[in-house]
Amino acid sequence: MRLLFALALSAFATVALASSRADDEHSHAQPQLVRITDMALDLRVDFATRTLQGEVVHTLAWADPKATGPAELVLDTRDLAIERVQARVGEGRWQRAAFTLGEPDEILGRRLVISLPGRVEAVRIRYRTSPEASGLQWMPPALTATGRQPLLFSQSQAIHARSWVPLQDTPSVRFTYSARVRTPAGLMALMSADNRPDAQPTGDYRFRMPQPIPSYLLAIAVGDFRFKPLSPRAGIWAEAPVLDRAVAEFADTEAMIAATEALYGPYRWERYDLLILPASFPYGGMENPRLSFITPTVIVGDKSLVSLIAHELAHSWSGNLVTNASWKDFWLNEGFTSYVENRIVEQVFGAEQAAMENVVAQAGLREALRSLPPERQVLALPATPGGDPEDATNDVAYIKGQWFLIFLEQRFGREVFDPFLRKWFDEHAFKSVTTDDFLAFLRRELLAKHPGKVSDAEVAAWIAGPGLPDTAVPATSARLEAVDAARTRWLEGQTTARGIDTSRWITQEWVHFLEGLPADISAQQLLEIDGAFRLTGTANGEIAQRWYPITVRAGYFEARPALAQFLRKVGRRKLILPIYRALAEQSEGDRVFARQVFQQAAPGYHPITRASVQALLDARAP
Ligand SMILES: [Zn+2]
Repeated sequence: MRLLFALALSAFATVALASSRADDEHSHAQPQLVRITDMALDLRVDFATRTLQGEVVHTLAWADPKATGPAELVLDTRDLAIERVQARVGEGRWQRAAFTLGEPDEILGRRLVISLPGRVEAVRIRYRTSPEASGLQWMPPALTATGRQPLLFSQSQAIHARSWVPLQDTPSVRFTYSARVRTPAGLMALMSADNRPDAQPTGDYRFRMPQPIPSYLLAIAVGDFRFKPLSPRAGIWAEAPVLDRAVAEFADTEAMIAATEALYGPYRWERYDLLILPASFPYGGMENPRLSFITPTVIVGDKSLVSLIAHELAHSWSGNLVTNASWKDFWLNEGFTSYVENRIVEQVFGAEQAAMENVVAQAGLREALRSLPPERQVLALPATPGGDPEDATNDVAYIKGQWFLIFLEQRFGREVFDPFLRKWFDEHAFKSVTTDDFLAFLRRELLAKHPGKVSDAEVAAWIAGPGLPDTAVPATSARLEAVDAARTRWLEGQTTARGIDTSRWITQEWVHFLEGLPADISAQQLLEIDGAFRLTGTANGEIAQRWYPITVRAGYFEARPALAQFLRKVGRRKLILPIYRALAEQSEGDRVFARQVFQQAAPGYHPITRASVQALLDARAP
């Protein structure tokens, strides 16, 4: 079936024929020989040394368990100090095992090779993390909302779990886990596991994650976190000063869970809680199962950015339940999730809100396509040995992937497409999948059952072709068209900025207004806009990340102090990189300014953010 399909779709024959699409070039692990099936962690959290110390016990399943003779277990690590490795050679009997660490690779870290007397059922590794662990951010009290207690959080996606646990760091392997975590008393520890709403900050915590997850969903956070419920199965963890605003902003979380269940079947992870992190969190959100990590930058007071919660929640079906087997197929996680996210928004907040978000997202995709090489504009990415999996994190995986599913929905109709998607989730629940798996399922369950609606060539153009296929129908929004009309009237001098009625505008309308300004807008015109709307100093990061680059390009220097303050306060990459980029591309004076601000801001940034900004500024260095 796959071969026939590949021949019919010669455009992506290489994709469909490659037997290795599930192979993960970003891991040293050898899952075809042995897989971790369960992990037991016992860790101490030490804020003084900024380290985690303790041990992990991996339960192993061998492909050929009866084979005799010595065996090898290869794990991923980065910046870990491995102190001792033991193999379980009998009931309760442990024996030391020899190990070697390979040469450090800048992206992959170091291979840990453990020599075993045979195909043992378990190994125990005692280890310590580095203060520079790429997946952990250690924050001093001064950088938290309360200013009183330190805070720690992890970010394991894509390949940072290996910086805090030696393990098979590939999304093609799933395991259950348990953990004992000890912290200073008074701090709360949370994990992507069975957090208890009534937990007390004793400093000694036990967790269990009974559903198998891939390594990138392993997560921990420690801080002065408080809890408030949103519904019997959902609630919010946050530092006290943020908690009530978060509860108000995300009050519709339960309605979103119910809407998703109605479309795609039961929520399979029991509780769904949100953890609101400090503004230095490098992402908008991270879909850690049962406990999404969330940036506070989406708390803007009018719920206009809660699609982020819809997005992280949607991952409970697309990504966490059905997972890309390697980062080459990241669109299977993010394209599906962006699609489900928008369906949730439509259900809970209405079709116009959903349409506005699609118009803004599609504009972002078109912008991204302008600077991406053709081979990176495809959904099924080629293998890039030596590359960084973060490179797959762009609008192609998210928005082009979503658009492909919208295309299928439009052609087959929701009465056919919705059950199709639900079946995809049901049949592949708790499994890791490739683009080939999806194409085979698509052909069997949709194309073959409804012939004549979509051709193989049309599918191929979406999966393996660069840019946007001819079959992409752009989203439209009446409210955003009204914004276009108002902008035009102002630019043509028919109204002043103050004359535009923005009293009911929400984030997407402001974003659309700014994105439609001409490239040669003058500082004088920005002064008028700023006088009317006070965009400089905005607390809304979606507006800030668009407004400040415009002020840089136009030489509107009045915005500089607030711009610098924004860069010092926020560490979410998506919001600050466009501003740094605009500065770096302008003049030498702007580059000097950018480096100065970065120097001040860097101690408050997550290691992931720090590396991204540094790389951007280095690339523009003379
Ligand atoms: Zn996502």
